[in-house]
Amino acid sequence: MNEEADHKTPVLIVGGSLVGLSASLFLGRLGVRHTLVERHAGTSTHPRGRGNNVRTMELFRVAGVEPGIREAASVLSGNHGILQTPSLTGDEGRWLFQEIDPGGALARLSPSTWCLCSQNDLEPVLLERARALGGDLRFSTELMTFEPDSDGVTAVVRSRETGEHTTVRADYLVAADGPRSPVRESLGIGHSGPGELFHNVSVTFRSRGLADVVGDRRFVMCYLTGPDADGALLPVDNREHWVFHMPWHPERGETLEEFTDERCAEHIRRAVGVSGIDVEITGRAPWHAAERVALRYGAGRVLLAGDSAHEMSPTGAFGSNTGIQDAHNLAWKLAAVLGDWAGPGLLETYDAERRPVAQATAARASARSAEHKHPGYTPAPGAEGRGPQGGILAVAVGYRYPRGAVVGTDPRTPPVPGELRLTGEPGSRAPHMWLSRAGERISTLDLYERSPVLITGAGTAAGWYEAAGRVAEKLSVPLTPYRIGAGTDADLVPEDGADWARTHGTEPDGAVLVRPDGFVAWRSAGPVPDPEEVLRRAVSTVLALD
Ligand SMILES: Cc1cc2nc3c(=O)[nH]c(=O)nc-3n(C[C@H](O)[C@H](O)[C@H](O)COP(=O)(O)OP(=O)(O)OC[C@H]3O[C@@H](n4cnc5c(N)ncnc54)[C@H](O)[C@@H]3O)c2cc1C
Repeated sequence: MNEEADHKTPVLIVGGSLVGLSASLFLGRLGVRHTLVERHAGTSTHPRGRGNNVRTMELFRVAGVEPGIREAASVLSGNHGILQTPSLTGDEGRWLFQEIDPGGALARLSPSTWCLCSQNDLEPVLLERARALGGDLRFSTELMTFEPDSDGVTAVVRSRETGEHTTVRADYLVAADGPRSPVRESLGIGHSGPGELFHNVSVTFRSRGLADVVGDRRFVMCYLTGPDADGALLPVDNREHWVFHMPWHPERGETLEEFTDERCAEHIRRAVGVSGIDVEITGRAPWHAAERVALRYGAGRVLLAGDSAHEMSPTGAFGSNTGIQDAHNLAWKLAAVLGDWAGPGLLETYDAERRPVAQATAARASARSAEHKHPGYTPAPGAEGRGPQGGILAVAVGYRYPRGAVVGTDPRTPPVPGELRLTGEPGSRAPHMWLSRAGERISTLDLYERSPVLITGAGTAAGWYEAAGRVAEKLSVPLTPYRIGAGTDADLVPEDGADWARTHGTEPDGAVLVRPDGFVAWRSAGPVPDPEEVLRRAVSTVLALD
């Protein structure tokens, strides 16, 4: 490390919004020391992104913050679905969907569910937990310059309160610095994708009368499609705080200054269809819906995560979720490389895994905006059918890594498949099953966080369990084996006699290697003559130890 640095840290995170805070939380859980700098004085004051999808909530569950988030989100826990209507006064609207999981299929696939939690409520929960885990999080602190070299990154940060400059030496820099990412720009990394799609001004307002007009229509969002005043209405507390996304057309020369309180209030009144309703504007923030994915997710020891790596249209809430999941993918790889139990090549799999997922997800987000006729969006012909067509669960939790830290995948598999299949295939999120561990009810997903895990059948003579112990010792890798089933040597017993092997696409004397992020790295359908050698090769490949 650079001897002249004022401060040394293994990981410097730039940006303390959803993705930076998530990166801090996940690194903290893995015991990786880090420093985060955020130029703003505190967390978001605007509701911004709100839809936390099932995969994100699984990650927050394992990280121990799911209860806190659900509590912070409790005011909207009864809101579901998207309504599309010319105004709120008539009843000619239609629900684009009313339940995210109408058949209840999700409960069989996951221990978690979607959670509507506004960013201004979510970020404080992440911040508090990240700090409790020992994270060094500095607000009102801005990255000024950074200089990567082959051993690390030297950065200069400035306190916006005191003006003091500090030189920070980090092994790695994670740029969670948003869509305009100064870090990405200075690395000269360009984008793929169509670019800007449409622009909105997100207006926060108070109205006491609106709750009566909305009545029992507890939507997550309502597209108001009246011919002279359209927009999207979002409840904040179902009582008096609301958000309204107003179309903005800078391409026609419309300026932000034109969005005066009077104009915004009048637009909202016309959109909801009640001319005399009280509307008090409390804030406004412009935002740009775009479809762009960085051409590389970093350079050397600098890695991009979240909106700095990809921008997505907000329909489907894929953007922030994809970003949080980037941070999760990156955290265990940084922990493994810094902890010396993986080779630096493991970090190269971050781009190989996450970028194709972002490209497919961003295409689906744009298509959903076209299908939902998002206010302010005039899509190009054919935009509606773009991207993977497998439904929202296939995008949210069914995506996979055909290339990366995986063995035995077909690299031609699309990153977001046409149908949801969580059957233990390498590169896919490991299946969820309820288990009993020493009397405690857990999900299989709760096993995956701090180390790679090998699961194999209890009461078999295949030798995988013993092989895992020897491989862990010889490779100095924290590999945790579990025997699963009904045998007397079982560490984990599936609930209701469920068949773990079938769920994971193996025989009872097979084995499944799961990464710390809960993705299947490799599996063997049955026994092999030399399980130690076979497992050693798989683990070495996954962790880039060859
Ligand atoms: C007004 C608005 C409304 C939105 N609404 C929705 C929505 O309805 N649904 C949805 O899914 N998404 C929405 N989004 C997008 C969503 O908020 C983002 O996808 C999400 O916040 C991505 O998080 P991020 O951490 O990657 O980037 P950002 O949230 O952009 O955060 C980047 C952070 O980096 C900090 N930063 C940048 N440069 C530096 C530097 N040099 N030094 C220190 N700090 C720096 C910034 O201050 C910022 O806090 C909205 C965004 C905005 C702005």
